[in-house]
Amino acid sequence: MRAGIGVAKGGEEVKEPRYDELGATTLKRISNSTHRTFAMCAERYWLLQDVEERATTMALAIGSAVAKGVEFDNRGKIGRENARSLGQLLEISESYFAALVEESEHAASVWEVERARDDAVAAMRCYLAEISPKVLHVVATEKSFRARIGHGIELVGRMDTVCDAEVRDIKTGRRWRDEDAHRSLQLTDYDLLFEAEYETRPRVLWIDSVYRVSGGWRARAIPTHRSQGQRARFVESVRRTVASIESGAQHAAPEGAWWCSREYCPVWQRCRVRGWD
Ligand code: SF4
Repeated sequence: MRAGIGVAKGGEEVKEPRYDELGATTLKRISNSTHRTFAMCAERYWLLQDVEERATTMALAIGSAVAKGVEFDNRGKIGRENARSLGQLLEISESYFAALVEESEHAASVWEVERARDDAVAAMRCYLAEISPKVLHVVATEKSFRARIGHGIELVGRMDTVCDAEVRDIKTGRRWRDEDAHRSLQLTDYDLLFEAEYETRPRVLWIDSVYRVSGGWRARAIPTHRSQGQRARFVESVRRTVASIESGAQHAAPEGAWWCSREYCPVWQRCRVRGWD
């Protein structure tokens, strides 16, 4: 088995297998986060493989902390656990943020960490006030999915929130526009994974965008769908990503890309192409 690395929700970096030997056939297994990371920047993908534990930025850690709070909010809605109070959910996000930053490589100053921790709590509070009341009939949270998409490739991924025939993905930080949601590769991936699991396509895919504005946080839920053409192009892009990883391809993020920044690149300080301010 060869080891690869994927970027989990909100930028939390996790080691994960790229290939698994399944019986007599070698199935190439790739997560949506690995696909997305490689598509954004191969330099980032390869550098992440050298990071011993985890690497993060404050923006990514805020996203991970909110996603953790959403997971616990969902658990209460599913009904397998008692619903947590507002204070408990905020505390879960804050504690998760602190633990993640503590055990991750990052380039933030003490002051930046403090400010980001306050932001994580404020963003979670915003989610609970503006998005959570609209999230009904939750059936799964942080559930793993798999889908074979041909070419000897299996997609794997986790979804934040699965409702009755709907999938929701939380995005924290920058404001998502409608067109961003309509083009999101992650949601196309979820469309395929959902169908493989439930043998029907989701009625609606949602981006729950929690974003910073001057003086606070706002949120909006953006509905979208996927066409057959988008699904076919996505499968082709995954096939190309797998082939590129196998060939050891190198490319850097395009100039001006928002994710190629100290704020959003967890290996900014290691980057051999850009980085280092
Ligand atoms: S700083 Fe930019 S080019 Fe360098 S690894 Fe990060 S995203 Fe890629």
